[in-house]
Amino acid sequence: MKNISLEMLKNNLTPPQLEAALCVDGPCLILAGAGSGKTRVVTYKMAYLLSESLVSPNQMLGVTFTNKAAGELKKRLSTMLETNVNFLWLGTFHSICVKILRMALPQEQPLFGVKAQTKTFSIYDDDDQKKVIRQLLKSKGVDSSAAEIRKMRSIISGFKNKGIQPDDAKDLAEYFEQRFVADLYGDYQDALKKQNAFDFDDLLSETVELLKLNPDIRGKFQKKFKYAFVDEYQDTNPVQYALIKLLMGVDNPALTVVGDDDQSIYGWRGADLRILQSFNKDFETAKIFKLEENFRSSANIVRAAGSVIENNERKEVFSKKVFSTKESGDKVKIIHLNDENSEASKISLNIALNTKENYFKTAVFYRTNAQSRALEEQFRKRGIPYKLVGGTSFYQRKEIKDILGYLRYLVNPEDEQSLLRIINTPKRGIGQTSIDKLRSYAELHMMSLGDCLGNASEVLSKGSAQKVLSFALVINNLRSQLKNSALPNLVEAVIRDSGYQNSLEKENTEESKDRLENLEEFINAVVDADEDIPGIELDEFLQTQALSTDFEKMENDGDAVWMMTLHASKGLEFPFVHMSGVCEGVLPLIRGEDESELEEERRLFYVGATRAENELSIYSSQVRKIRGMDETFKPSRFISELDLSVCETLDERVSNTWSGSNDLSWRTAAPRRQSPFRGKDSNTGGTKSWNNFNQESSFKNTRSSVPEHPKPVKVQNTSTGDSFDQEFLYLDVGRKVMHPKYGHGLVLSCSGQDDNARVEIKFSTVGVKKLVLKFANLQVIG
Ligand code: ATP
Ligand code: MG
Repeated sequence: MKNISLEMLKNNLTPPQLEAALCVDGPCLILAGAGSGKTRVVTYKMAYLLSESLVSPNQMLGVTFTNKAAGELKKRLSTMLETNVNFLWLGTFHSICVKILRMALPQEQPLFGVKAQTKTFSIYDDDDQKKVIRQLLKSKGVDSSAAEIRKMRSIISGFKNKGIQPDDAKDLAEYFEQRFVADLYGDYQDALKKQNAFDFDDLLSETVELLKLNPDIRGKFQKKFKYAFVDEYQDTNPVQYALIKLLMGVDNPALTVVGDDDQSIYGWRGADLRILQSFNKDFETAKIFKLEENFRSSANIVRAAGSVIENNERKEVFSKKVFSTKESGDKVKIIHLNDENSEASKISLNIALNTKENYFKTAVFYRTNAQSRALEEQFRKRGIPYKLVGGTSFYQRKEIKDILGYLRYLVNPEDEQSLLRIINTPKRGIGQTSIDKLRSYAELHMMSLGDCLGNASEVLSKGSAQKVLSFALVINNLRSQLKNSALPNLVEAVIRDSGYQNSLEKENTEESKDRLENLEEFINAVVDADEDIPGIELDEFLQTQALSTDFEKMENDGDAVWMMTLHASKGLEFPFVHMSGVCEGVLPLIRGEDESELEEERRLFYVGATRAENELSIYSSQVRKIRGMDETFKPSRFISELDLSVCETLDERVSNTWSGSNDLSWRTAAPRRQSPFRGKDSNTGGTKSWNNFNQESSFKNTRSSVPEHPKPVKVQNTSTGDSFDQEFLYLDVGRKVMHPKYGHGLVLSCSGQDDNARVEIKFSTVGVKKLVLKFANLQVIG
């Protein structure tokens, strides 16, 4: 292993970075701004510890946010240290937990008694989880909609992320519905146990439980790990935090965490910023290092991004002033367009003008995946190649999931979800009635569904039983090859012997040919995995595969533009960044009146903007299609928070449908805006939203250089509650109204009269809507 000298550290790190890297005793928090070298410091610090033999590779735990980031870190360390050591314990929380579970769980099912999870556990994805929930509800005689099932899945996931066990959930439940979900949660956990499966949340929460309940296992890991690192610490959730403490102990642990409170964007998934904020209280010996120089972006970009994020409330102790000593660079471009198609067209044009050579250095970000459609269309029209991060992943394709289903069932005979997926795929005449009969038989005899396939003749007609038995025979034959076949050969055998290949060949359509090609690609992926880890066993391959996404495998061949959601952009950097759909109601995507949600949206904007190295363009369009209907949007409040001295605005809207917006000159004339959520608002509890709205409307009026006040429209006063009452009043800007579906709203503009009267209203729930007054059913409340 090559020696990383102090000299080398000094040459590659600035003095504040070096100080943080050399703090090798006890807990250490590196709280630093975007692009300030957090990940770089972690890398050098790891390399230094390894080269000084202060820690060996398998004693070093390193947590990154994605597998891709872990892969890059490993590559970096191998190059710096000129070693081919496999850094086994560098990975995401999930992949580390899979390793711990594989080490700690038994090899085989117990011979007697209740089934339990073993080393060959399956990892259930969202779809599997929903199927388990649907089956449980069905067995309780409840027929739930897809939306209800989704909601229950997410409540259960919420419990797990907070470390709430089924019994605790039952204790906490007050109402009937809550008790029902708490019971369901308990049944769901039992079902997963029987099926020898974990869902993604379980991987973490069950590891925590295992370490909590087994002091000897916990002790072994605490002895093993001499040093731990966590990158992107701002997005840690309570279960992950518990895991770190269990693995490292709480007494002066050798633990370095790095994070940026301004980049915490996973609160909606249970991440808790307070974990970072209380680091120095939880670990009294902790040292805090701040890094404020941004090495990634030009000065204008750093300033623009900073001017937005400073509108978030921040604790004094965590305040930091991120700056860049680079050149100012180009101004940040703010571009207003008519609708999302012209916006997509403009983005593709700007990318095309920036030359082909820069495609792979370019990224387009959006708030939600659905926004990619318009962009993709324009890219295709202009012949710009692109790589979509997220979207439908290769591993989500039906044919791949089917073959994975076979493989999963081969290694884990309790995996009922996989069995149900493959039992009649390809079609072999085993219908739902036969499956239901087998399931009842299994329940009656306390067997798993898979165990009772061999007893099919006892419950099914001769013909149906025969079909089930021949399926069981195929499975048994394949299972007998598990131990002796190389992984790629086994996968080929599955595709062939299951009849899958034959059925696609017979179909002989364009689609079936595509599917066959995808299966070939899958075999290639298996060959790669077999080469990476020679002799990798099927169960390990499946568990690793379940945790990786396309993004992590995806290499840009150097000719395509990157497209991804803002969430996916975390930690990355690109010379050219285009942020699309920066409109009020899209970014921020406000789901409620919660101030913390708005602040998280602002951090999301900040994450996106700080990915840019040289050029940042921000686009808004005033008309966007939402569920097939044209809706009007204003430019995002984040655009109005930008420091305009480092921005240039281009308005390409042909006509404006929202009042007072024809002239954007207020953008340069207006004083810098204070956050509407600051100061007095923060204590006003329930009335907060109205204060916000009021400030919002006065903000608009003071900014408009066209002080035209839209005419009020005549509206029937329904507030008396008497439908025969013919009293009318005038509805004008600033009125508070109540809509039966959208709730509270504030009138932003009015146009037309009588039957043609239209009003534009900002609702706290759904953002700005333009409504035909006649049909809007509004109640004026203030
Ligand atoms: P993020 O907040 O986005 O996670 P980060 O704080 O982890 O960012 P890095 O990704 O480590 O920042 O660094 C940002 C960029 O700045 C990288 O390209 C990195 O190589 C470069 N950089 C950081 N520190 C230095 C330095 N001392 N000298 C030269 N380049 C540096
Ligand atoms: Mg980083």
